[in-house]
Amino acid sequence: MATTTGLEEIHILWTSEGMSCDGDTVSMTAAGLPSLEDVLLGLIPGLPKVHLHNKVLAAETGDEFMAAFHRAARDELGPFILVVEGSIPNERINGDGYWTSMGNDPVTGEPITVNDWIDRLAPRAWAVVTAGTCSAYGGIHAMAGNPTGCMGLGDYLGGDFRSAGGLPIVNVPGCPIQPDNFMETLLWLLYQAAGRAPTIPLDDKLRPTWLFGKTVHEGCDRAGYYEQGDFALDYNSPKCQVKIGCWGPVVNCNVPKRGWMDGIGGCPNVGGICIGCTMPGFPDKFMPFMDQPPGATISSTVAGVYGPLMRRLRGITNKTVNEEPKWHHDRPELTSGYRP
Ligand code: SF4
Ligand code: SF4
Ligand code: SF4
Repeated sequence: MATTTGLEEIHILWTSEGMSCDGDTVSMTAAGLPSLEDVLLGLIPGLPKVHLHNKVLAAETGDEFMAAFHRAARDELGPFILVVEGSIPNERINGDGYWTSMGNDPVTGEPITVNDWIDRLAPRAWAVVTAGTCSAYGGIHAMAGNPTGCMGLGDYLGGDFRSAGGLPIVNVPGCPIQPDNFMETLLWLLYQAAGRAPTIPLDDKLRPTWLFGKTVHEGCDRAGYYEQGDFALDYNSPKCQVKIGCWGPVVNCNVPKRGWMDGIGGCPNVGGICIGCTMPGFPDKFMPFMDQPPGATISSTVAGVYGPLMRRLRGITNKTVNEEPKWHHDRPELTSGYRP
């Protein structure tokens, strides 16, 4: 159960200095429901005043940008949400150096690792949010054979972690995040911080339930083709792509329903196979990409048997319902079945 609420002002400290490509920050700027600008300009009623500290979007640079992070670590900033973008490297195996850092220690001049920042800030944060699959579950940088021992934030902080607001980590996976998924999650948390929303509902992988409760397949424009056993054999087809590598039936993601920007796009809807980029098992459990998923063989074979029969029967019905009823005519008699 989250504690402190009724906040009137809150900071967002966003680090993308983990193993990251900054793709989630860039993606977020495309959000419209709500847009980042609307949140920061105070255009949404009932939200606390929000101050964003994100290096990609900040006007400040260097020490001036880092000042808010140092103040937060000294408990001088006020309430804040910590957003982590990028995988967390294992600094216990960094040899003579370090894997990744953000800013320098003002006293020693030494780089401060991202892991140090997480240690300092996560327990002080009102809420801790991951942006993207890398920070949620490890993602691309944590795949088999990587030298950094990368992991997700939950692996680093442990399953018992609770923020100062009493929340577990809130995960918004995706590679990158779907922009509105992230902003909607942030909006919920801001309303919760203001005391105007109940505790955010999360599933057992700490994802917002209303965003990740359905599979790609359940929202895919091509699901009708699957059901009728009508499968694409190359990438130029509008049909179901399960035989050319789509993992949609077993992946939790709402992108086919929501699209990417302004409802446009949505991976399989527009010809991209789903490679499971939102999932804790991504990417290793979905590779090699573009091969038929092993679990799809049985279901697509069954659909391939009854599907063509259903398609033929539906073709007959479709022809029938494409004809007007026979009593629509201009003859001098009424044949509609009307009884006086
Ligand atoms: Fe980049 Fe994807 Fe990792 Fe986000 S989840 S930092 S988009 S690689
Ligand atoms: Fe399901 Fe993928 Fe086929 Fe869409 S393209 S119907 S998500 S298997
Ligand atoms: Fe990632 Fe698949 Fe969702 Fe596309 S549909 S965003 S590949 S999980």
